[in-house]
Amino acid sequence: MTFCISENIDLQPFCTLAIPAKARFFCVATCVDDIRQALDFARTQELPFMVLGGGSNVVMKSDFSGLVIHMALRGIDLQANLPPDADAGINDKVYIAAAAGEPWQALVDFSLAHGLWGLENLNLIPGTVGAAPIQNIGAYGVELDQVFYDLQALRVSDGELVVFSKSACEFSYRDSFFKRTKGEYIIVSVRLCLSHKGVAKLAYPGLADHFDPVSLGALVPSAVAERVAELRRAKLPDPTVIPNAGSFFHNPIVDSEQAEHLRSLHPDIVSYAQADGRYKLAAAWLIDRAGLKGELSDGVGVHAHQALVLINPGRREGINVLNFARRIADRVEALFGVRLIIEPQIYP
Ligand code: FAD
Ligand code: NAP
Repeated sequence: MTFCISENIDLQPFCTLAIPAKARFFCVATCVDDIRQALDFARTQELPFMVLGGGSNVVMKSDFSGLVIHMALRGIDLQANLPPDADAGINDKVYIAAAAGEPWQALVDFSLAHGLWGLENLNLIPGTVGAAPIQNIGAYGVELDQVFYDLQALRVSDGELVVFSKSACEFSYRDSFFKRTKGEYIIVSVRLCLSHKGVAKLAYPGLADHFDPVSLGALVPSAVAERVAELRRAKLPDPTVIPNAGSFFHNPIVDSEQAEHLRSLHPDIVSYAQADGRYKLAAAWLIDRAGLKGELSDGVGVHAHQALVLINPGRREGINVLNFARRIADRVEALFGVRLIIEPQIYP
């Protein structure tokens, strides 16, 4: 496909929150050279740029006066370009490399079709492969870093390709090096280490109790993925029907003292002990208990089945969504003394 830069493009179809916002310039990158050309253009015109994958974790606060680079690099390779220290085949490990613009679901489906363990709990997460490391995507008790091997990223300052090992990505709960250095690197491919032999991770509520304990040993990854899909479909709104960006706030992590204090005031508060002694509070519980679940105001609302998901059925502007989110965070803070932090990335 010939690389070209278009002007004045409506971003609403590119973002799952369906916020009406325009990009002054917009291009689709199908290879690394396209990204380099796009960056050259932005540099020459002295414009800001932003990288857009599936638009499932962004909020457009207003029009973007720079260049949007929409990632469309494709390709999934089984055991391609093995790292020198790779032990593919040992313990039935398999390495898969995927280009940044591949839909995440295409990679999950590919792994399941090959009978590989590793991505089954991460089934049905919207977005692209290249965005997955940004917030170390996670669901149903599994996070990307558990199967991650390395990635290749283009350094914006000089256009060079750089390999990041798992430790260099500095993954933590819904966070990574790349989230903290936004705009410095563009991820072009990701390599994962999966396995033909695996143990189903069923600790998350709704998983283990679904399967017959006698046949657990014969479980295949696609059966777990199917159960995850069932749970997700029952609770989370399909963005093509009700615009949303998934969880709108992070689950707050508080120290044990604050958790204990909150438990004394609200004995039924939902919290999970972390390995470092702190506690993760379920933000959905805080919002629900603040009486906001199902609330709808001027086209923006809190999903009726999951209070952590803000919905934008009125296809309102980013500023309306963010004002609504601020009101939620204010109410929760007033009641519980905990400030909710927005999870999606806000532009410009
Ligand atoms: P975008 O929204 O396009 O971009 C997000 C950020 O990443 C932006 O800052 C963008 O600039 C940057 N970025 C994107 N691609 C690249 C790249 N190649 N290089 C550098 N920067 C890049 N998340 C979870 O963790 N777990 C879930 O279970 C989950 N469920 C969801 C369910 C729904 C219904 C929705 C709408 C969202 C959900 N999300 C979930 C959030 C979202 O799907 C993920 O964060 C996903 O990885 C975002 O991918 P994307 O391609 O849409 O990223
Ligand atoms: P849920 O099951 O209603 O659980 C609510 C919250 O409690 C979740 O955020 C989860 O934290 C936490 N939790 C539940 N059981 C837990 C356990 N046994 N140990 C530790 N933490 C536990 O959540 P849901 O909304 O239906 O989502 C299901 C999964 O999909 C969750 O993992 C969630 O993170 C993921 N998801 C993420 C997004 C997003 O945009 N980020 C959107 C939709 C779904 P964790 O979030 O840490 O798992």
